[in-house]
Amino acid sequence: MSARKSAIIIGAGFGGISLAAMLGKQGCTVDVYEKNESIGGRARVFSDHGYTFDMGPSWYMMPDVFEHFFTLMGENIHDYLTLKKLAPSYRVFLGSTGEHHDFFADRARNAAVFDAIEPGAGKKLIDYLDESARQYGIAKHEFIYKNYDSIFDFFNKRVMREGRKLEILNSMERIIHRTFTSELLRKVMLFQMVLLGTAPKDAPGMYRLMNHVDFDLGIWYPDGGIGELPKAIGKLAEKCGVHFHYHAPVRRIVTENGQAVGVELENGTVQHADLVVSNADLHHTETALLAPQERDHSERYWNKRTLAPSAFIMYLGVKKQFENLTHHNLLFTENWEQNFKEIFNHDDFPTDPSIYVCAPSKSDRNVAPPGHENLFVLVPLSAGVTYDESKKRAWADRTLSILETRLGLTGLRTNLDYERIYCAEDFSLDYHSFKGTALGLAHTLGQSALWRPNNVSKKVKNLYFVGSYQNPGIGMPICVISAQNVYKRIMGITTPHPLTSL
Ligand SMILES: Cc1cc2nc3c(=O)[nH]c(=O)nc-3n(C[C@H](O)[C@H](O)[C@H](O)COP(=O)(O)OP(=O)(O)OC[C@H]3O[C@@H](n4cnc5c(N)ncnc54)[C@H](O)[C@@H]3O)c2cc1C
Repeated sequence: MSARKSAIIIGAGFGGISLAAMLGKQGCTVDVYEKNESIGGRARVFSDHGYTFDMGPSWYMMPDVFEHFFTLMGENIHDYLTLKKLAPSYRVFLGSTGEHHDFFADRARNAAVFDAIEPGAGKKLIDYLDESARQYGIAKHEFIYKNYDSIFDFFNKRVMREGRKLEILNSMERIIHRTFTSELLRKVMLFQMVLLGTAPKDAPGMYRLMNHVDFDLGIWYPDGGIGELPKAIGKLAEKCGVHFHYHAPVRRIVTENGQAVGVELENGTVQHADLVVSNADLHHTETALLAPQERDHSERYWNKRTLAPSAFIMYLGVKKQFENLTHHNLLFTENWEQNFKEIFNHDDFPTDPSIYVCAPSKSDRNVAPPGHENLFVLVPLSAGVTYDESKKRAWADRTLSILETRLGLTGLRTNLDYERIYCAEDFSLDYHSFKGTALGLAHTLGQSALWRPNNVSKKVKNLYFVGSYQNPGIGMPICVISAQNVYKRIMGITTPHPLTSL
């Protein structure tokens, strides 16, 4: 690092800002250039008509990872955020009647719910979670804070020994189907794979750790909304001297003699630095910011990737409150298999959609006017989906109608006070996302760990990549870990374990 005194980071998503903070703390001069108007990347916030909406993530999971990051920075996360554990964690709606089950970060309560649905499933849940918790510990210690460079980093003795315990070669679907027989419980145990942008049949067994994250560690909420989290990391970074530049799209990574030496902004100015890190989606970084001979991947490579789904999102303000909603609400499709096929490859709205409704106004009265509800409604659909305005309207009407009938949100449409629709094209416009994928590369085995794109360029010296396209992958805490992995790379730190100091 001593010879590298300045860094430019392209993009103010979780990966970019966490790395900026760490490098800033080491005395490096750091400039972050972000094309949009504010911090957070996909976790941006917007306010309109008295409502404040988190634009993307709403599940604050793996609180231990954020706590560890703030501690590394010499800070206490609780000085920055007021966090509450949601109870229930979420509500699962069953069908046409508004009937539902609630799930908590409480093993005994969940075991009772599981037993009521499938006799004997409560004990199976506890045993399953004991193993998931153990595997979470192994994954954190051995796998996810690790940089992979060659096949030997993956298939060394220790990884083989621990990897077998993680059932890397088994699918999540197989593991859950052999454990539970109830269709509903199978869905409850597998829906977290959608958060990873992956079909359960393609998700390697190591992701059972997500069940520990959900059922044991719980789902949290920072007062003011999820957007408070990137703002807090931004404050840490600014304290360490990092400069943020908004409305500052980068149009080219400047290289000289095979080395990254800076960036050229859309306005034509060139900024120099000793190293460049791109937090932008990797397909955009490679195809728009680098010359063909500087790219690690071909167009053929990209066309063969399994992309995580896109999303049809409605940000709604409603002039009434709904008793039957809690903070997080899920309606699972009846036809699970068909839906998974469709959200990975179908040029239309799903035939029988799964719908997620977040109602942060249940936990936070500041995100909607008094007596009103703030709703974030999300339907996963395929990346690459095409549509026009009239299709989008039809999809919106269909979604609203399902919410009224199957979740029992009576009067939703007549009380609508605010509506904004956001879909695949918006992801491409706002984040330069490939084919409008909401999340990036799915977590299939062939796109995990060693097989996920690397965080250092093979072709251009002093060029790094950080964020959801790199190991360990998708999700806010996971991108904070991605930043620590790039930090290790830059600093020449080779430990596979979480850092204990910077
Ligand atoms: C709808 C939705 C729901 C989600 N739900 C959850 C959830 O509940 N919990 C969870 O943990 N995760 C969730 N995620 C995933 C999580 O939000 C992402 O994985 C994570 O935020 C990605 O961070 P990142 O570091 O990859 O950066 P990104 O957020 O992808 O940010 C990259 C930044 O780079 C900028 N950029 C791109 N090109 C340029 C350029 N040329 N010049 C300058 N800047 C550029 C972009 O504008 C963007 O700000 C969700 C995501 C979405 C979209």
